Amino acid sequence: MTLSSPGHRAASDAHVIAPGATLGVLGSGQLGRMFTIAARRMGYRVHTFSPDQDTPTGQVADREVTAPYDDLEALRTFAKDVAVVTFEFENVPSDAVQALGGLVPVRPSGAALYTAQQRGREKAFLSERGFPTVPFARAATLEELTDGVATVGTPAVIKSAAFGYDGKGQHRITKASEAERVWIALRGAEVLVEKFVALQAEISVIAARGLDGAVAEYVPFENRHTDHILDVTTAPAAIPAGVAGRAREISRAILQALDYVGVLCVEFFVTTDGELLVNELAPRPHNSGHLTFDAAVTSQFEQQVRAICGLPLGSTELLKPAAMANLLGDLWAEGEPNWAAACRFQDVKLHLYGKTQPRPGRKMGHLTATARTVHEAQEVVIAARDALLT
Ligand code: AMP
Repeated sequence: MTLSSPGHRAASDAHVIAPGATLGVLGSGQLGRMFTIAARRMGYRVHTFSPDQDTPTGQVADREVTAPYDDLEALRTFAKDVAVVTFEFENVPSDAVQALGGLVPVRPSGAALYTAQQRGREKAFLSERGFPTVPFARAATLEELTDGVATVGTPAVIKSAAFGYDGKGQHRITKASEAERVWIALRGAEVLVEKFVALQAEISVIAARGLDGAVAEYVPFENRHTDHILDVTTAPAAIPAGVAGRAREISRAILQALDYVGVLCVEFFVTTDGELLVNELAPRPHNSGHLTFDAAVTSQFEQQVRAICGLPLGSTELLKPAAMANLLGDLWAEGEPNWAAACRFQDVKLHLYGKTQPRPGRKMGHLTATARTVHEAQEVVIAARDALLT
């Protein structure tokens, strides 16, 4: 048995939010659902708050509150019944988080959310503190965008600064003259222009920081995207040990710099030159960490419960090589997928999020496979997903 290292100031037991307490989640998607499952397994109750009904989180929570995020009165009522509030996606308006902040602990903090929820602020934070990023420029006018493209060079990617995910609001340009067209397409909102770099791999480090300042991170995972949406994650990433170690070090330093409490995902680019660059931060559990549910000693969701409740962090050890494949709504195009065919793979776990409308590109669930090697886990998980269409 390993006890957490004595090098850190022990969180006072008085700060522990003990099992039996009620945890609040802003947002109601699959991340909230898996957080709730982990929390309930440990004996907590969970309330969720979002504008929607019969949600992935609400289906498994003790209470589903349905109200807009700008209904500050509803938020205050929500806060009265919970011991701590967390969020399961970063597009929660910062006013909502601020309204809660005076009433109940919010973890991660509103300040960390504020930094990570807008690409421009996030990149500025990273570069000001010396973390490696792609060359970038922020632009609030067409003139600034033109200057920015001239500075970073082409090819470049222009991204809307706010509320982007899964590649939404992104445009690649090969010539500076295309910038104006993109500016118009993005309706003149603040943008970020980045140099387009040639990638060898994309990896993510999921790390957590406890109330006592202790940090624990998983080994880097490797991510493959299709149409900008995460398709398959494999763990551990097939990268040199030095690059993996450096990615872990950078991630730990980012959590410290944000004075963060909770789970944070750091997405990195590994360029064809072997350079490691931070792409973006997700201030919450992340799709690439779903495989920790079945393949690690502590899942990223349990880790989030531990961190926000002031409990010691759990072991991030990976029990076996693993692979995760997302199940998008496209799989329903010809009718209900063949679940029995996928379940015939004995080392594959099926996770569905309880969503009733399978739209193309919508994340409906995922499969996780564990195996003796990463390669085998990947082959098995893809074969199981293919079997859904038989
Ligand atoms: P993002 O939403 O910023 O994570 O971008 C979505 C995906 O687009 C990334 O996972 C990369 O595959 C690709 N991408 C984004 N920015 C760049 C860049 N500056 N250079 C190369 N590829 C990029």
